[in-house]
Amino acid sequence: MKIFKDKHTLQKEILKTKGISFVPTMGALHKGHISLIKKSKKSRLKTLVSIFVNPKQFQKKRDFRNYPRKTTQDIKLLKKLKINYLYIPTSNDIYGFKPRNKIFLDKSSKKLCGKFRKGHFEGVLNVVNRFIEIIRPKYIYLGKKDYQQLFLIKRHIEKRKIKSRIIECETIRENNGVACSSRNSKLSKNQIKVASNIHNYLRNLKKKIRKNYNLFNTNEIKKDLLNLGANKIDYVENYNIKNFKRIIKSDKNFNLFFAYYIKNIRLIDNI
Ligand code: AMP
Repeated sequence: MKIFKDKHTLQKEILKTKGISFVPTMGALHKGHISLIKKSKKSRLKTLVSIFVNPKQFQKKRDFRNYPRKTTQDIKLLKKLKINYLYIPTSNDIYGFKPRNKIFLDKSSKKLCGKFRKGHFEGVLNVVNRFIEIIRPKYIYLGKKDYQQLFLIKRHIEKRKIKSRIIECETIRENNGVACSSRNSKLSKNQIKVASNIHNYLRNLKKKIRKNYNLFNTNEIKKDLLNLGANKIDYVENYNIKNFKRIIKSDKNFNLFFAYYIKNIRLIDNI
């Protein structure tokens, strides 16, 4: 595994290969990331993983500072997985140039997480647009856990006629049902139990509303989540996952999207 910290040295190496399968991450790697990497390795192209905690997608400096960082552990894991390239850029390497493409921000960026994390998706698309320009990947592996992010990156790529193809990857979960997330490492045992109870509650709710959509009552659900130990709920909403539109009656393609806090740890998922 070759490690790069500078885009010019990286480009010298990768632009002569047949193409790159790219797995962008913010590090503190877990089973979700590993599944993306394993899928990428099957592509037969060289796999490049990036680790960059992108300051522009955090609204609060404190959240950015508190984001888990485990670079030494991550490097060990990536060596074991036998990926070809690891790119750990500095902020200046990413933000010290003007990209050719402007970001395209679909209007659905104003919903769900976009409503509660102002500027978050601009920050995500900004960094992804720059990574694409540096790496020119054939494939980009993204997780459905962050479905809104995946949808918006796809829209940007379509709109800007970028040649990279997005490979959508299934959400990997812990045994208790909770989606793997770097932020889970900040949860205590009791808080993990809360997350697991919330997951079970929402999974059952989805089954019920599939049969009878009238049972979907956001205020009641929010109250129940608070009783189960959530400290704040940003949203619980149903969206059609094909067109990413909010639904108001039963629809076979719907997923239940939610974001909530346990103390100051924000968790998101869709089931
Ligand atoms: P992050 O490091 O959180 O920015 O995530 C990097 C990539 O891993 C994104 O495409 C995420 O959607 C994906 N990812 C994060 N958690 C999971 C998970 N539990 N299952 C599958 N993919 C995931």
